[in-house]
Amino acid sequence: MSFSSRGEKTPLGIYVHIPFCRSKCQYCDFYSLAGKQEHLMRAYRRAVITHIKESGELAPGYRVDTIYFGGGTPTFFGARGITAILNAIRKSFDVAANAEITFEANPDSVTPWLLHKLRSEGFNRVSLGIQCDDDAILKTIGRPHNYAQAVKAVKMIRRAGFRNISVDLMYGLPGQTLEMWEKTVNHVLQLDPDHISCYGLKLEEGTPLYENQDRYDLPDDDLQADMYLAMVDILRRRGYRQYEISNFAKREMASKHNLKYWNGGEYLGFGPAASSDFAGKRFTIMNDLPGYIQGIHAGGQVISEIQQIPPRERAGEYLMLRLRTTAGISREEYERRYLLNFEPLVEVLDRACLRNLAMSNGKGGYRLTPEGFLLSNSVISDLLIAQEKCQAIGKRV
Ligand code: SF4
Repeated sequence: MSFSSRGEKTPLGIYVHIPFCRSKCQYCDFYSLAGKQEHLMRAYRRAVITHIKESGELAPGYRVDTIYFGGGTPTFFGARGITAILNAIRKSFDVAANAEITFEANPDSVTPWLLHKLRSEGFNRVSLGIQCDDDAILKTIGRPHNYAQAVKAVKMIRRAGFRNISVDLMYGLPGQTLEMWEKTVNHVLQLDPDHISCYGLKLEEGTPLYENQDRYDLPDDDLQADMYLAMVDILRRRGYRQYEISNFAKREMASKHNLKYWNGGEYLGFGPAASSDFAGKRFTIMNDLPGYIQGIHAGGQVISEIQQIPPRERAGEYLMLRLRTTAGISREEYERRYLLNFEPLVEVLDRACLRNLAMSNGKGGYRLTPEGFLLSNSVISDLLIAQEKCQAIGKRV
């Protein structure tokens, strides 16, 4: 079950994975194929639309309040393909009139025509991958654009009528210093984004950056931590509210779709490598585009992994996911939803408070501090150990 009360249908999120990019970035381990592959793009579009049409009947009574096109690079896939998929979602699901509908974009693959088309079809949020303002670093990490293109893209997006623009930034990049990172953040703030996601570079096994890491001057963990804390401070002073470890927004501009993941909401994913959490089960689609296309058309299996999540594991997920957010966790909610006693967790949380890693709201609620976000893995792992001692309580509280 999701974090919602049993039996209650929460609004549904839909994620569509577009598995195409102009080229592969050196650090990226998301499932996507590089280059224009017209026949595969057409076949993918037909397959995902068929998949969506077949799945609509699985969710009667669900209202869809967020739709997110990620990838991959949806804008590289093109406006006609994206809108055809969005229209299939609208025909197959009950989409709320005020649904948040996002697409991810790269600066090199937006045009005024594409943006106007997507805006007029009902998209109302753009997530633009900028990463940093240094063209030499952008080149090193294999991004297919420079910073001037990013600036131009933001202006184009505003001119097309979007009122909710998010930008993605990365720190800990090869050759990046603390000063360079602070300059990037300040520079990007001049673009006045409504929402900012900032991620530290992670070396993912199998990526070119991982394989060749010795060749690069990569910031160490301490420098990455300094970069993180500096960014939190700059964004706070400029009026952006941190609502998750890596996400910051102006008032009312937090991503409703992403909050669904952290709040344990239900969502369905379409396209290769997409995940779903629906009706108490978590499942992931195979990360193999030809296999996905064939499986959909032949009526075969496209799911690579499916799990029924036991209640105690859901309780652990609540701790893990909610502590990523600034809303944090609450004794009342934990006990009501999972019928487990919260008490064994309090000692760990109080210890974290003494170390300035967490703070209590005095009403049984706790959240991590920015310093705590940096060490969240260790706090959460202590909590999961303590959770083993949480006894079932015999009634809802
Ligand atoms: S554009 Fe995004 S999805 Fe595509 S390779 Fe780069 S990081 Fe990965």
